Parts: sequence; structure tokens; C-alpha cells
Amino acid sequence: MDFKEIEKKAMELIPAECKLTKVEAEGLDVVIYLKDLHAFYANDQLIRKLAGALRKRVLIRADPSALKPPEESLIAIREIVPADAGVSEVRFTPEFGEVMIEALKPGLVVGKGGGTLKAIVERTGWAPQVQRQPTMASSTVKGVRASLQKEAGTRKKFLQNLGKKICGPILKSDYVKVTALGGFQEVGRSCALVETPHSRILIDCGINPETFEPTKAYPYLSAMKLELDKIDAVVLTHAHLDHCGFVPYLFAYGYDGPVYCTPPTRDLMVLLQMDYINLAARQKEGAAPYGVKDIQKQLAHTICFDYGEVMDITPEVKLTFYNAGHILGSAQVHLHIGDGLHNLVFTGDIKYGFTRLTDQAATQFPRLESLFMESTYGGHNDIMPSRFDTEKRLTELVKSVISRKGRVLIPVFSVGRSQELMMVMEEFAARNPDLNFPVYIDGMVLEASAIHTAYPEYLRHNIQRRVLSNDSPFESKIFVPAKGERKDIVEGDPCVILAPSGMMTGGPVLDYFRMMAEDEKNALFFVGYQSSLSVGRKIQRGLKEIPVMGDDGRSNSIKINMEVDTVEGFSGHSDRNQLMHFAKAIRPSPQRIFTLHGDENKCEDLARSISRQFNVECRAPMDLDSIRLK
Ligand SMILES: [Zn+2]
Ligand SMILES: [Zn+2]
Repeated sequence: MDFKEIEKKAMELIPAECKLTKVEAEGLDVVIYLKDLHAFYANDQLIRKLAGALRKRVLIRADPSALKPPEESLIAIREIVPADAGVSEVRFTPEFGEVMIEALKPGLVVGKGGGTLKAIVERTGWAPQVQRQPTMASSTVKGVRASLQKEAGTRKKFLQNLGKKICGPILKSDYVKVTALGGFQEVGRSCALVETPHSRILIDCGINPETFEPTKAYPYLSAMKLELDKIDAVVLTHAHLDHCGFVPYLFAYGYDGPVYCTPPTRDLMVLLQMDYINLAARQKEGAAPYGVKDIQKQLAHTICFDYGEVMDITPEVKLTFYNAGHILGSAQVHLHIGDGLHNLVFTGDIKYGFTRLTDQAATQFPRLESLFMESTYGGHNDIMPSRFDTEKRLTELVKSVISRKGRVLIPVFSVGRSQELMMVMEEFAARNPDLNFPVYIDGMVLEASAIHTAYPEYLRHNIQRRVLSNDSPFESKIFVPAKGERKDIVEGDPCVILAPSGMMTGGPVLDYFRMMAEDEKNALFFVGYQSSLSVGRKIQRGLKEIPVMGDDGRSNSIKINMEVDTVEGFSGHSDRNQLMHFAKAIRPSPQRIFTLHGDENKCEDLARSISRQFNVECRAPMDLDSIRLK
């Protein structure tokens, strides 16, 4: 439906006494401005009727002339919202006629059936937006929200332009094509271009975090002579750098369009990109290919929505996110193109199996012809032990180290596996109160965990309930932020230390390792993927001595006397069996499947097995391949 039709329908449906002043397309939404909100809310069926008729998300706002002054409105809000909602911040954004209310208990700000919100809007005119205050302080969440507020003017202009484009005339497309730009037959720099004659959409735009060499680290955008200003949308599956690490570069070099993702992905992505800039600056290859201001620009252009919401992102393409079970906010991307011309799904990284943090990946889609699925553990030997056995083995190992008065060091990725391990450790400590050991949390693990407490609705039901009832497992007293000297922790009582980076390529884990390695009472346990080039892999494979640069600039070597072991089964990726079960469970059954995000042999092995067992066309494209789907 183009904008003229939308405007006409809205005018027909809105009763005259509401005094409609303007209809506007703003990003993916339609905004209707009224002078009399009382008249509008007197009919509680009206909003549903409008959304149904316009087939868009409809926002009702007061005409600017009907907004009460902020000071007066603030007093009204304080009166209307119950005190136990724990309101921590109220911010007015005149550009959008909105008031942001941040609270510990957003449900109480919303009220029964939205009653409290309605009372606020009727009394003040301002449209309330409720945000959850994380139960753990998070500088990222705070920074992101403040930056969105500060950039409201820019954001408004951007959304208005985008709204006009999306509500533009619908041109008929006769083909759909996908081009592999990175992450095909490899892990890292995930990026694919979905193209029709009228739409160009990038799915993910990552870097390979293991290397800083541009030809290997970045996707093939320039090789394909891709004009960044001709891209209509960037859609992100999740916040890991191999999927989102290159997005700010697009903004640095001419992209000016929207980035679509879930709300947790937005916040986690900013955290990881900022860290990447710092990390890259310390490399011999030099700085990251973008700066902080590009991350900010990306943020101002980011549009979030939840799983299951169907959104028009170009006049002919509808996007819906589905749970991927991999990390907080991770999504599978479903595109419905050209009113039934073609439907495709990019799984991103998926976990089709039990984890403590999130539900397993969704397998039911409304329509589906082409499926692009990850294959990290797609080789026929990539079978992991059950989660039950995995947890049992890790906790037994930890118990023996603590009992002999040693300390356990576990290298972790800040986002995903570390929170998963925290849940395991919390339960283990509760069951073994006599062991009485702290778990030190170092580096970004703490900040990433704090972001989890802002989005409990994306977590498994039992954890969600605990966060909501002020008993967040992330804040259990066994977790101690490593704020003081690391030396004191290493020389102190028996403990467990969770520290990034996960493959020991840098970060606080190396600091601990240097101080702990020579004491045979200590232990180093690997729980995550170690790439072939990483320091972690070398130690895992039995390296007994490792050269290090001392503080004095001279190189020393450290003897590795500590216990070294690997516990498999904590991965946020599906193992081979889970991938096969996922492919089998997908409904409707796709006409063809493409494997990606795995080493060459894994992608091919999985593709062969799928086509043989399920009698479906399946293959593993390479980077730079273009595939016509329709
Ligand atoms: Zn991932
Ligand atoms: Zn990945």
C-alpha cells in the first residue's frame, strides 16, 4: 500500500471529533497526529481497526499544540505511576512527542490492559515509551539510550525519509538472487546480499575476529563493486563480531540506511564494536576501519523489533525475526519477497538443543523455499556430549581443583558462553555450600551480563522469572567483579575465574594465565572453540612452555605446570546431530538448502548428508558465488 492510500484510509477511519492534523510515515510505522486524544481513546477498538486496515504498526501522537509542558507532565506522571514501579528516569523527546519512562518494573508503568499508559497520554498528551532498567548497572544500555535521545533530531529526519521510501510505489520483481560476500565455506566475516530488481538487502556484515589483515578479515564488498549508498537495508542476526563487526564501516563509507535487529543485539553490538576498536588499535596492522562516530551513526540508524513482528522493510520485502537460541537476542531472518514470489530464511548461528540461557531455535515459518543454514559443527564427527554430562564433568573438575586449594581459570567469550557458565556455576555453588568459593568475573563479561538483565523476556522462562522477581542469577553473591589487583585474586583463596578472550588471543585471561601457569595446583579449562591459529589451541594441544613479553620489555618464558583440560558441550552452536535434526524439523520443508558458516569440509559434509537423507537439493556455496533463487 503506498502512502497516499494509507493517508486516505486513516482519514476515513478516524472520527472527525479526534481532529486529525497529520498522517506521517516514520520508519516502519505510520504516525497519526490528533488534537483530541480523549475522543480517540473513547473507542477502544479504533487502534486495532487502524492497524488492521493500514497493515502497519500505527502510533497515535498528540498534535504538538496539544502537548502539556514537560514540567507539568512530569508531575502528572509521578502521580499516575505507582511508586513501586521503581521509575528511575523520565525523559521527554519533543521530536517524537514521546516521553521515555525507565523503570525497574515496566509492567506497573504499563498498568492492567495498558490502563496506566492510557492515563498518562490522556492527561499529558505525551506518548509514553516504557523501558526496563537493567537490575545490574550497565554503562552500555545507559549510553545507547542517552545517545538515541541526543540524536533524536537526526533520527527523526532519517525515519521520515525511510518511511517515504518504504511506502513508495510497489514495482513488480521477477527474480531473487543471493550473493555470498563472506562467511561461506569459512567462519568469520558473515555477509550475504539479497537482491531483486528493486531491493538490495545485506544480511549480516561481520569481520573475521581472528585476523586483522583486511583481505581476510573483511567481507568482499569492494570486490563486488557494491555501491554502499544503493543498499536499502542491513539486517543482523546477532551481536557477535563475525556477524556485525563491519557494520560501522558501511556508515563510514556512504551507507545511510537502516540497520534492523532485536533490541538486545543493538546493545551487545555496540559493546563489542567499541571493544574491537580498542583491540585493533593495539595491533601492528593498525586501527579498526572505523571509529566511535561511525558506531554512533549506526546506532542512530538502528531500528529494533521483537521476534514474530512482520515488518515491511522495502515496498516489496517483509522481514520477520525468529528465535535462534544462540545468544541473547539472536535471530533467524525470514524474508517474504514480492507478495509470495519467494521466501527465504538465514539461520545465522543456531542452537537447536538445550541451553540454560535461551529457548532452542524456532523451526516453524509461515512460508519457506530457500534455507541458508550454519554448519560450524557440520562435520560427521562433530558430535558433542550431552549437556548433562558436560556440566557434570566441568563441575567435577572444578570441585577437585577447589578441594586441593587451587584456582580455576576459564577463558570465555564475553557474550553468550560466559553467562551460560555463570548459570552452571551458580547452581553448582548452591548445591555445594561447603565448597564456598567465589567466581571472579573479569573484563566485559560483567557488562555483557548486565545487558542480559535489561532484556529478561529474551531469556528462558525460569531465568526470566528470577530476573523479574529481583533474584537475578547474574547477581548471585558467588560472582565477584574483579575490580582490584589480579595478583591478589591469584594469590588469594581457591576460586574460579571467568575471563576473556575465549581463545586467549588477548584480554585479561592472559594476565591471569601468566601468574597461574607455573603452579600445578591450578587449572585451565577450555570450554569453547579454539581456532587453529590461537594461543588457546596450542596450549590445549599440550604446549609446555610459552614465550611471553615481560613488563620490562624482555621476553621470558612461562612453564605450564597447571592442569589443562577441555570440556566440550557448552557451545552455543548446534552439533552435527542437532543440525541434522533442525534441517529435518523445519516447516514447511524448504525446496533447497545452502550450508555456510563452517570450514569448507564441514559445509560440504553437512550439505551431502542433508541432500542424501532428506532428498532435498543442498549445497555449500563459496564466497563470491551468486545464486539465482527465483
Ligand atoms: Zn555467533
Ligand atoms: Zn558466527
